[in-house]
Amino acid sequence: MFPNYSTEKGVKTMKFGTKLLHNGNEIDPITGAASIPLYQASTFHQTDIDHPGEFDYARSGNPTRKALEQTIAELEGGVAGFACASGMAAISTAFLLFSAGDHLVVSNDLYGGTFRVLTQVLPRLGIEATFVDTTDLTKVEEAIQANTKALYIETPSNPTLKVTDLRGVARIARDHSVITMVDNTFMTPCFQRPLDLGADLVIHSATKFISGHSDVVSGLLVTQDREIATRLSGLQNALGSILGVQDSWLTMRGLKTLKARMDASTASAAKIAEGLKRISGVERVFYTGLAEHPGHALQASQASGHGAVLSFDLGSSERVRRVLSQVHLPIVAVSLGSVESILSYPAKMSHAAMPVEERVARGVTDGLLRLSVGLEDADDLLDDLERSIEGRRLYSVGEWRASIV
Ligand SMILES: *Cc1c(COP(=O)(O)O)cnc(C)c1O
Repeated sequence: MFPNYSTEKGVKTMKFGTKLLHNGNEIDPITGAASIPLYQASTFHQTDIDHPGEFDYARSGNPTRKALEQTIAELEGGVAGFACASGMAAISTAFLLFSAGDHLVVSNDLYGGTFRVLTQVLPRLGIEATFVDTTDLTKVEEAIQANTKALYIETPSNPTLKVTDLRGVARIARDHSVITMVDNTFMTPCFQRPLDLGADLVIHSATKFISGHSDVVSGLLVTQDREIATRLSGLQNALGSILGVQDSWLTMRGLKTLKARMDASTASAAKIAEGLKRISGVERVFYTGLAEHPGHALQASQASGHGAVLSFDLGSSERVRRVLSQVHLPIVAVSLGSVESILSYPAKMSHAAMPVEERVARGVTDGLLRLSVGLEDADDLLDDLERSIEGRRLYSVGEWRASIV
């Protein structure tokens, strides 16, 4: 039996919020501790060398990491989970399921780090990718070649939140006997469960919503295919792309409040998206929760929420700079998915390396800002954004921070 597979009965039928706290991995089996201890050990005493225990060396397995891996497998509805040193470690490990001569069809609206691995690392190993607009299923199917092994999707995409039909992609993949891989970082299993929609492999940067506190870098993989699980287990052990003990614990700690955080931040994001539309100076708002968003209905058909990330276009880099210098509440930073709101400038951050024409063609203009909504009061956030966009802030953020102590 595959070591990560939990046969716990009952867990499957519980609601998500309950499952986060009661999934069979929340209590330490040795001591009964209500928080899985940090098993800060690299090696394990073998009482009987002919019958080694479950754990021998922590690259192959560690009880703290195992609890997280089984938890994410339960939450995504897979047979096995893997915790890796970062989202990119998880993605890179998954890409090494492929070999020289293999080909992948990939969303062209992709996380920059994934784009870098696909264009700078995998070609050296003889693994090629074709980038297509996966919101158009015809284009996905047309890009499939005789040597294609997988379709790789991010939905909603970053930062303009284009929605790809996950059921449709999985159907095409099955017709062509290739696998579907989905980066589910923006939605988390709280809102979107790609395995239930026919995907084979789910990927997370758990650095974002899953951990949720801007204090850990972490990545997760889940599959519902036993053969893929066995191969990933071998790769994780061979490559050593494991998540450390402390970071496994922090990721589990964050995960417990995932639903409460996602629900609250999503409700605020919806309010802020509507509010931004009424502010003069905001030319466009991208949020799948808005009825006018082209992916609105599709998103509602495959996910139970619209998430806490939105973006808006101020029309020029001058206005962006003014807002970034005046805004008080969101931190100005890369990353997303935390308890504090995070405002990012994709043109200078996530998409800085992309040629300008390509970037603008993807809607990542010089005036676009991405907001990851945290747990501050939505009215305060909107008020802060409004004053900053309209240039009504009397104090710089530095002066303001100095004044609140
Ligand atoms: C951040 C991110 C990644 C990379 O994860 P790291 O934890 O930073 O390595 C991958 N995909 C998406 C969608 C992300 O937002």
